[in-house]
Amino acid sequence: MNKPLILVVEDDASVRNLICATLKANEYSYVTASSGAEATAQAATHNPDIILLDLGLPDIDGVQVIAQVRGWAITPIIVISARSDDSDKIAALDAGADDYLTKPFSVEELLARIRATQRRLIYMSNASPASSFENGGLKIDYAAGCVYLDGEELHLTSIEYKLLCLLAQNVGKVLTHKYITQNVWGSSWDNDIASLRVYMAALRKKLESADGEKQYIQTHIGVGYRMIRL
Ligand code: CA
Repeated sequence: MNKPLILVVEDDASVRNLICATLKANEYSYVTASSGAEATAQAATHNPDIILLDLGLPDIDGVQVIAQVRGWAITPIIVISARSDDSDKIAALDAGADDYLTKPFSVEELLARIRATQRRLIYMSNASPASSFENGGLKIDYAAGCVYLDGEELHLTSIEYKLLCLLAQNVGKVLTHKYITQNVWGSSWDNDIASLRVYMAALRKKLESADGEKQYIQTHIGVGYRMIRL
């Protein structure tokens, strides 16, 4: 795969220059935008592979940019925001962002997120309508409804199985509590989110019991969960 084209949306010139210099040094190609309007125009013109998006823009909110881009493209969007507030991250993820980084961030972390997104793109482009899913020692046989960990069948409840399949279908992506509960229970009340924590703790325990070394599910406190591609 060629190095992807990255759209950098950032109104702060010093941060934008830092990101662009990092991308250039790592042989990525990029285009830039410094406002929401410019961001959607650049996204439409260049069809980038990945969008790095600041939320605090001078004209419209970054969350609106996500919603607009999601109207016609599934381009992965990594939010880079000074806002540490969970509600902003959640709004961005629920609008369709794939991941987030909180400022100040290290360039190594930024590059790691870009690489993780690239791996996900490669995986998605190779994925045929899947009859099974494999990640590290984890295997889901969708047709049989069976899950194996390091070759041993795991006994999951139907809700644990649904949760695992949802995370697997979105491997690498942070899913918010609201997204998960709406997909699994069809609702997102406070008690659904409380139940989710209980089910997720049980699921994680089953996934980690056979091999304590590997962590498949990452908790984003106050935000949601992500399955890591191993
Ligand atoms: Ca800004």
